[in-house]
Amino acid sequence: MKLLLTGGCGFIGSAVVRHLLRHTDHIIVNVDKMTYAASEEALEDARTDRRHVLIRADIADAAAMRQVFTTHQPDAVMHLAAESHVDRSIDGPADFVQTNVVGTFILLEAARAYYEALDAGRKAVFRFHHVSTDEVFGALEADDPPFCETTPYDPRSPYSASKAASDHLVRAWQHTYKLPTIVSNTCNNYGPWQFPEKLIPLVTLNALEGKELPVYGDGSNMRDWLFVEDHAAALVRVVEQGKPGETYAIGGRQPRTNLQVVKAICAHLDSRVPDPAGKRERLIRFVTDRPGHDFRYEIDPTRTEGALAWKAPHDFEAGLAKTIDWYLANTAWWRSVRAARYAGQRLGAKTERAA
Ligand code: NAD
Repeated sequence: MKLLLTGGCGFIGSAVVRHLLRHTDHIIVNVDKMTYAASEEALEDARTDRRHVLIRADIADAAAMRQVFTTHQPDAVMHLAAESHVDRSIDGPADFVQTNVVGTFILLEAARAYYEALDAGRKAVFRFHHVSTDEVFGALEADDPPFCETTPYDPRSPYSASKAASDHLVRAWQHTYKLPTIVSNTCNNYGPWQFPEKLIPLVTLNALEGKELPVYGDGSNMRDWLFVEDHAAALVRVVEQGKPGETYAIGGRQPRTNLQVVKAICAHLDSRVPDPAGKRERLIRFVTDRPGHDFRYEIDPTRTEGALAWKAPHDFEAGLAKTIDWYLANTAWWRSVRAARYAGQRLGAKTERAA
C-alpha cells in the first residue's frame, strides 16, 4: 500500500514510520507541518529510505492537501497530525481548534474528493484511519469500568474537546458521504523520541539533572500506559485489517497512578545511574493541580485484541526500562530540544509542568 500519513515526524507518527519500514513493504507519504513537536531525527533510517517521502505542509491548507492526494494517489490515510499537549491547550486553545478540528475537516474533504474519483477496485481498499485519544471519553472514578468502543463522549479539556470534535467529523463523513473511515482511541503513550514536555521524559530528565519532580495534586491521578512501539504495531494492523465504520480501543492494560510512574522512574534511574546525593524520590514535589484535571483514564482493549490478533507485548516496567535507557543513550537529542526551549526558540515559557 501507499500510505498518506499525517504527523509522521511526531512522537507516535515517527514510531509508525519506523515500524512500517522495518516490518512491511508499504510506501509512506509523510505530511507534517514540522511544529515544535516534530523531529526529523526521529525518522531515523526513514530519512534515507526511498519508501518514505516527507512533505512539509499544513493539513489545514486545502490546496496543499488536494495536491498531495492528486500527486501521490494513496491507498489509505493514517491521520495522526494534531496539537497534542493538554497543558498547551489550556494556555492557548486556538491552535488546537485550528489543527485538530479545522485541519481534520480539510483533510476529510480532500480525501472525499479523491475517493469519489477512484474506480471501484481502489475504492474497495481505501481507508481513512483517524488516530484519537481515550481523553474524549472524559474521566473515570476509581471503581468505574474502563472505557471501551461504546463509551459515550464527555471531553473536558480544550485538547480532548478538539479531538472529540474531529472524531465526530470523521464518523459523519462515513455516514453521510460513505468515506470508509476507521477511528482508534488510545491511552497514554510513552517511549523513545517523546518530546520532553510530557510526563515520563520530563521527570526522567529532571531527575537526571537533580531538578525537582513536579507532580500535580497528590499524584493519585491514574493513566493507562502503552509503549509507543506496541501502539505503532496496533495502528498498522488497524489500517491493514480494520473494518470501515468501526472503532478500535487500543490499550496496554497497564494502569498506574502518576506517583507510581514518577517513583518507578526514580527507582530505574537510581539503579542505572546512582546519584551520590541520595535516592531521587527526594526530588518529588506536589504542585497545584492542573485546572479540570481528569482523575482516571483506562481502556478495555478486549475487542481490539480479538479483532486484530494484537496484544501489547510490553508491560509498563519493561517499556519504561527501554524508554529510560533510550534517553540515557540519546542525550544529544534531548539536550538540543531543551536548549532550544530555554533559548525561547521553539516553546513558550509555560510548559515546565508535569503529571
Ligand atoms: P506529537 O505532538 O508528538 O506530534 C504531532 C505531529 O503532528 C508533529 O510532528 C507536528 O509537527 C504535526 N502537526 C501538528 N500540526 C500539524 C498540522 N497543522 N499539519 C501537519 N502536521 C501537523 O503528537 P503524538 O503524541 O505523536 O500524537 C499523535 C496522535 O496521536 C495525535 O492525534 C494525538 O491526539 C494522538 N494520541 C496521542 C497520545 C499520546 O499519548 N501521545 C495518546 C492517544 C492519542
